[in-house]
Amino acid sequence: MLYKCINCGKEVDLDLKAAKKVQCAYCGYRILEKIRPPVVKRVQAM
Ligand SMILES: [Zn+2]
Repeated sequence: MLYKCINCGKEVDLDLKAAKKVQCAYCGYRILEKIRPPVVKRVQAM
């Protein structure tokens, strides 16, 4: 799951089941927001 640190803005890939604490790997900040994976919608050209 991809998270974004609200402190430094870096994207951190965290597995919450493996990692027991949510923490930014870069600055150590503990408040991260969840990033939705970009959904690419493909529209077929006629
Ligand atoms: Zn950070």
